[in-house]
Amino acid sequence: MNYITGYRCTVCGKIFKPGEVELTCPICGEKGILDVEYDYEALKKVLTKEYFAKNTNYSMWRYAPLMGIKEDHIDEMLRIGWTPLVKSHNLAKELGLKELYIKDDGLNPSGSSKDRASGVAVLKAIEAGAKVISCSSTGNAASSCACHAAHMGLPAVIFVPKRAPIGKLTQISLYGATLVVVDGDYKAAFKLSKEAINRHHWYNRNAAINPFMVEGKKTVSLEIAEQLKFKPTDWVVASVGDGCTIGGVYKGFDELHKLGLIDRVPRILGVQSTGCEPFVVASRNNEPLKECEENTIADSIAVGIPRNPLKALRAVSKSNGRWISVSDEKILEAMGELGRKEGIFGEPAGVTCLAGLKEALNQGIIQKDESVTIIITGNGLKDPANAQKAIEKPPLMEADINKLDIYLKEKGVI
Ligand SMILES: *Cc1c(COP(=O)(O)O)cnc(C)c1O
Ligand SMILES: [Zn+2]
Repeated sequence: MNYITGYRCTVCGKIFKPGEVELTCPICGEKGILDVEYDYEALKKVLTKEYFAKNTNYSMWRYAPLMGIKEDHIDEMLRIGWTPLVKSHNLAKELGLKELYIKDDGLNPSGSSKDRASGVAVLKAIEAGAKVISCSSTGNAASSCACHAAHMGLPAVIFVPKRAPIGKLTQISLYGATLVVVDGDYKAAFKLSKEAINRHHWYNRNAAINPFMVEGKKTVSLEIAEQLKFKPTDWVVASVGDGCTIGGVYKGFDELHKLGLIDRVPRILGVQSTGCEPFVVASRNNEPLKECEENTIADSIAVGIPRNPLKALRAVSKSNGRWISVSDEKILEAMGELGRKEGIFGEPAGVTCLAGLKEALNQGIIQKDESVTIIITGNGLKDPANAQKAIEKPPLMEADINKLDIYLKEKGVI
């Protein structure tokens, strides 16, 4: 059963019936990004707490009725979602926070939150009878698209900027996709992919343009809410590049609210790096988004022209949230802390949310007696080169027990 009632343009507000539009609003063009809308009254009768209690599909596909996908092929897919929501003890104590949860989305099949969108994209591509799926990305959407396309036997053509970290580049090739490393930044990769997709009529997985990507991304909130017995935390913190992830985070909670499953939408803190902070600048100066340089080690959020600005801005404003930015040094510090205190290894963009939480606590935006969920969006093993900057390298030890003892004393373990 398909509960989609239509697609609403986020710019002009016009609603299109299913089948009337392909990806974006025909009136507003590429900027007219669409929102998928459902028959929430009908869904209320289906998606009840009992439905979830009985549902044994521990993946994001447990939310299929609210994702607008046909369920024919979901059993053939890799397992995406239902990642752990870890209750923090050590880090919460260190920060003096009453309640802190860590959504470890780096444990998805290709190691990032992007699997949530790519899984939907691959199913949609199969549904549409596409011969090839394609996208451009800073690296994670690319590697996850390649991953799920490989599993479902769909050829993929993937565009990345030349600075994409080696782990992500390796994944893409290893999954057998045709990899195009563009001699330029993400903006250049996006432009070339757009031209190629139009010319060759491939299925377009580009995050903002395709409204179904947010339908996948929003499952992270559905899970957080369900894992907290439909009592989500006061705040949810996410790092922001194009804005699809945070847009999805908001839509997921907003829809649960519409379905009467949660009492309120959590406040959403959007975090960027000071090396690339178009949203933070726009909100600080109360002006439209301006193009920024892409100058941060958090490569997944180094997005100079965000492709989904309206959904991201709405996520923060409608949830009464805030925007904040943190330096690369703070990001590396957060990476080390998360590893040492919780045993969770996130990539730079993946831990930017933690650096943002700390800054928000410092600035008094978030209070210590509030509850918070941070979403670790990507796995640290994807980018060991940057992670090396967050650690102290061990000395090369002579095989001598006395010299070993000197070192162990220094480290305080004996
Ligand atoms: C893509 C990504 C983000 C940000 O998502 P956007 O939709 O681009 O805002 C954050 N962290 C990681 C690890 C990502 O891959
Ligand atoms: Zn429009």
